[in-house]
Amino acid sequence: MKYILISILATSFFIFSSCEQKGKSKKAKPKEKKTVVVPGFSADSAYAFVKQQVDFGPRVPGTPAHEACAGWLVKKLSAYSDTVIGQAFRTRTYDEEVRNGKNIIASFAPEKKKRVLLMSHWDARPFADHDPDPEKRRTPIDAANDGASGVGILLEMARHFQQQQPEVGVDIVLFDLEDWGPPSDLEIYDDKYWGLGSQYWSKNPHVYGYQAAYGILLDMVGAKNPTFPKEYFSRKYARYVVDLVWYSALNLGYGSVFVNQNTGAINDDHIFVNRYANIPSIDIIHIDPESSNHSFFEHWHTTSDNMEQINKQSLEIVGKVLMNVVYNEN
Ligand SMILES: [Zn+2]
Repeated sequence: MKYILISILATSFFIFSSCEQKGKSKKAKPKEKKTVVVPGFSADSAYAFVKQQVDFGPRVPGTPAHEACAGWLVKKLSAYSDTVIGQAFRTRTYDEEVRNGKNIIASFAPEKKKRVLLMSHWDARPFADHDPDPEKRRTPIDAANDGASGVGILLEMARHFQQQQPEVGVDIVLFDLEDWGPPSDLEIYDDKYWGLGSQYWSKNPHVYGYQAAYGILLDMVGAKNPTFPKEYFSRKYARYVVDLVWYSALNLGYGSVFVNQNTGAINDDHIFVNRYANIPSIDIIHIDPESSNHSFFEHWHTTSDNMEQINKQSLEIVGKVLMNVVYNEN
């Protein structure tokens, strides 16, 4: 993912679509408020799920590590959910190569009409193009934070969904080939080369005509002391989802993490889910104006995005907020 110019504005169609969803979800809510017991979220378990992915080696599409991790993810999610689909696709990267990708989709209570969509990307970037050492800028990265952290949280949530079913249906979608965008020194600035798995899924969802009340994307959510400001496209397409999630965080005492600040546009998977699948979706992403690395977390797209950067408390904060959001839906 990367910053993109704010000049690419959302059209009124998407704003209309977002409002329509808002109306629908309001109508579906019953009048009396039920007390919901939200299961605890285990940071240890989430951490172990992050580490297990990283232990495969960089999950770069086309490598044995990628293949092995896909098998592991499918097996894990099959143990927790009702159905798992490995959605294979072919796509073309910036270098004109055709590559094979696999989105992995786990559905909980697929018969339920009202659904919440949870997303993250599971592939690792093939190039550490922002590494301080120029020699390493074509080296694949562990992508512990930029990829595995979000997936780890979603796996831990899946474990709970199996033990205590939420009122609403849930779909977890793990996108492939998010991070095969052109290395920065090539100066190719076309946004279409990022989020290839989400572009494919958004145009070809696993269920024909698939809809969800809203979607939440996790990206770089496991580093120490993260700050998650309100990203531009999230506000543009899904303002009420931003409010819902940030309000939940505030209630849990995490107002200094889910900060009440706006930030610019990030080219990430949620854009395509908004644009092509018309599901109002937000991005929870670590943005730090103090960072010397393009406002992302310090080790973004470097060889040091490894397990040393993963912080259990951060995983717990994000996990707890999402658990509260999902279990309070009805
Ligand atoms: Zn990335």
